[in-house]
Amino acid sequence: MSRKKGRREERWRGAAVSDGVAVGRVLRIHGGGRHNIYRVALEPPEVEREVRRYRAAVRLSRRQLLALKKRAARTLGDEHAYIFDAHLLMLEDRKLNEDVEQIVRHQRVNSEWAVKVVTDRLLAVYDEIKDDYLRERSSDIEDVTQRLLVALSGESLPSRRLTEDACLVAEELMPSTIAELDFARVKAVATDVGGWTSHTAIIARGLGIPAVVGLRDFYRHARTGDALVVDAQRGEVILHPSPETLEAARARLSLASAAAARPAEDERAPSRTADGVEITLHANVELPAEYGGVRRYGARGIGLFRSEFLLTQRGVMPDEDEQCAAYEELLRVAGEDGATVRLFDLGGDKSGGVMLEAGDERNPALGLRAIRFCLRREDVLRTQARALMRAASKGRLDLVLPMISDITDVRRARRVIEEERSRLAEEGKQTGPVRVGAMIEVPAAALVADRLAREVDFFSLGTNDLVQYTLAVDRANDEVADWFRTLHPAVLQSIARSLEAARAAGIPTVVCGEMAATPVYAVVLVGLGARSLSMAPSSIPRVRRALAGVSAAEAEGVARGCLECATADDAEELVRARFGELWPDLFPPQTLPPLKTKG
Ligand code: PEP
Ligand code: MG
Repeated sequence: MSRKKGRREERWRGAAVSDGVAVGRVLRIHGGGRHNIYRVALEPPEVEREVRRYRAAVRLSRRQLLALKKRAARTLGDEHAYIFDAHLLMLEDRKLNEDVEQIVRHQRVNSEWAVKVVTDRLLAVYDEIKDDYLRERSSDIEDVTQRLLVALSGESLPSRRLTEDACLVAEELMPSTIAELDFARVKAVATDVGGWTSHTAIIARGLGIPAVVGLRDFYRHARTGDALVVDAQRGEVILHPSPETLEAARARLSLASAAAARPAEDERAPSRTADGVEITLHANVELPAEYGGVRRYGARGIGLFRSEFLLTQRGVMPDEDEQCAAYEELLRVAGEDGATVRLFDLGGDKSGGVMLEAGDERNPALGLRAIRFCLRREDVLRTQARALMRAASKGRLDLVLPMISDITDVRRARRVIEEERSRLAEEGKQTGPVRVGAMIEVPAAALVADRLAREVDFFSLGTNDLVQYTLAVDRANDEVADWFRTLHPAVLQSIARSLEAARAAGIPTVVCGEMAATPVYAVVLVGLGARSLSMAPSSIPRVRRALAGVSAAEAEGVARGCLECATADDAEELVRARFGELWPDLFPPQTLPPLKTKG
């Protein structure tokens, strides 16, 4: 599907991970992970300052190269130092510098972006060269580009403003990158990798932004500024849409916004099933842009705050006062129902280049992640615990320990927290009570749930990771998305076992993975005994509606049947059949788990 000059319409299929349709323009986010580069729109007065910033980066890079050349000449001899001459020549190339500055001035964008555009063009020319030696010189261009970008990163970007109609296109977006962008202005997201529970997907749903992931090689074909339709209802993106496609997309867009503008039915009333069982619905939040939804959709406080989103891409750890202010703000948003803050769940797919000593772990999902990171970096844990206890003097604040697999980790964390409580008292600082919970998201925690329940004040069931770790399926890898089976009996048994252990110990459980936000699964969860669900605020209305239409007793019957099943296929088929009989209007076939492996 090559990109043609005539701008023929091109379609890519992926997995829709949120709802809605968007019409906008591609904004490519380069190099998933640590070196994402954004196109930042500048205000006119910022342009000349930006050019000066670029020139300063060139001067710095030049000084570095001269020093390197000298060192190479000394240690390796002059004949090896010539390579730096090539780099210096490029760096001093008038045409290259003029091109970069011209883009900054004419397009009013940041230098990083302009460098990338110019060097991408150069690289494309080199790609076409037949001569092997010359073609290989493209690595010099990459090298100099990297040097310039690093030099530029020494200063902060002028702002994070994005253009109005930006549809983010990336191979992969790190959560920390997402946290840095002004998401209020992002129209849609399209990424080459990712799955339903990847963090890009979770955030996009939280903000109500159409998102399609798992597009494989879309990023390579899209260019910033290309017209794009992101259709998260059909799991499709359309590059260079024809006038007819655009018209059809806009028609669906206005239908969707009319539906969204309709006043919600009695959002503040408690959520109840048809047979009167109350189910408490809380909000999951990551970014301030989502805070408004907590009240708007009638959430009973914040059931999960993913605190790692307080860290920015450059890995700057907020200090105690900054964290304390952030948690107080969270309490203000949450109101009297309070908020549950999860300790930094760093590592795995969430590190985003942040301060991890583990470096490039061979298996990050099984590495120095979450509670392990907190215990390794006790200074980080102590600061966060102090900030949380101080903020708790202003309202009801709980903390939850991520990725618990061994009760010893709970005890160690609690000991550190208590030490800091005593220290705060000695310092005369005001604190409030903080309940400590455990995330149940690995099979080990579910297996020892009865004993774990005696050591904590509540459970948070993280079904995203529970499915990932129980089934050994990477939640963000679209290649194995077919094996990510939420209704797998092993997953359901772990959930049932954890809920029962909490009930027996008299502690509450909040289910806060994406399962809770999906109406059909939410009903199964209620059938398994869940009475408290936490989800992106925008998901609350549809879950509330689904629960109001079902009977908890009947849901229990279906859930019991699923627990007896041998395979995920069997459980899904059972759900399709039983939901279809019991609640056909509420759950039309397209809302039920699709057939995956049965032919
Ligand atoms: C989960 O694992 O289900 C969860 C709620 O945490 P996260 O998605 O942030 O890993
Ligand atoms: Mg998790």
